[in-house]
Amino acid sequence: MNIPFNDLTWQNNLIKTEILEGITALMSESVYIGGECVEEFENVFAEYIGVKYCIGTGNCTDALELILEACGTRAGDEVIVPAYSWISSASSVIRTGATPVFVDVHPDYYTLDPSLVEAQITPNTKALIVVHFYGIPAEMKEIGAIAEKYGIRIIEDCAQAAGAAYNKGKTGSMGWAGAFSFYPTKNLGALGDGGCVTTNDKKLSDKIRVLANHGQKGKNKHKIIGRNSRLDALQAKILISKLKYLDDWNMRRVKAAARYCIRLTGNLVKLPVTPEYARHVYHLFVIQIENHYEVQGFLEQRGIQAFMHYPLPLTELEPFEHLNLRSCDFPVAKNMANRILSLPIFPGISDVQIDYVCENLKEAIAFFG
Ligand SMILES: *Cc1c(COP(=O)(O)O)cnc(C)c1O
Repeated sequence: MNIPFNDLTWQNNLIKTEILEGITALMSESVYIGGECVEEFENVFAEYIGVKYCIGTGNCTDALELILEACGTRAGDEVIVPAYSWISSASSVIRTGATPVFVDVHPDYYTLDPSLVEAQITPNTKALIVVHFYGIPAEMKEIGAIAEKYGIRIIEDCAQAAGAAYNKGKTGSMGWAGAFSFYPTKNLGALGDGGCVTTNDKKLSDKIRVLANHGQKGKNKHKIIGRNSRLDALQAKILISKLKYLDDWNMRRVKAAARYCIRLTGNLVKLPVTPEYARHVYHLFVIQIENHYEVQGFLEQRGIQAFMHYPLPLTELEPFEHLNLRSCDFPVAKNMANRILSLPIFPGISDVQIDYVCENLKEAIAFFG
């Protein structure tokens, strides 16, 4: 049996007709950038997340950079970032000229550890980026209290957590601004690149619109040096169709995760833990085991794709070498790097597929454990 890490055909088949009709309509209108589709998506997504404003961008990395730029982040500033994430959470900070200050993650939830944040705050701390990692919302209450105490803005990296919630608050509605990715394999994925910013701050929303559209405030009215980062109409149209299914697809991920957990009970592996406050959307199903590279290779031989998200913590990546970080200062991240493995998970995964992964995983662990 071949089990891909992610299989988009199931969801694509479900909405194929709707999407093809949408594309045909768009081609007869010939509006490919901006226009009604983008506006409609921004409105429905803002409503879904529970914020006043949504601004489409080219991708999530741009969304993070635009938020940081709009908040005036520059050389000399510091931005707190979790030690484990995708590189964009920290590279966006460097690209503004500021310095990322890494904080270790929680050993069970893998998001920014609130108990370690306060010690890293200095007079130069400009903002704090929380990452709702693997689909688990970060501890927003405790982190929010610290941010408020010091007057620091919270930026939410929601790339892995579309539809996740902290109690009743959806990710992307709890900080000053949220950045989303519509990369095809994310929980809400386009058929190409895409992203957006969500916020309740009108000034920020207006500023990002100008920054992301060549610094224009209206056609040819260039006010500042901006850039070009837009969600295109085709992707917006596809996302409008897909958003209707997001809750259902997230529920299917949760069900798949529950089956994995039942099949893998015992002390065989460290299973994902959902904090009490969280609606976890299982962008990834991440376990911890010994000899993860050997186990990954074993699974591959049995036709099962498993990956590491990510092989190294941010603190050990080459582009951050100049910061002279010591991996012993980030023990949780260091430990994760030696143990994590992401198993296949996607809305259309079948019970038979999950069971096949589990049987082979058990065999691999017995072999290498
Ligand atoms: C995917 C991802 C991003 C980047 O998203 P793009 O749309 O590809 O730029 C940023 N942060 C995290 C945590 C991600 O998983």
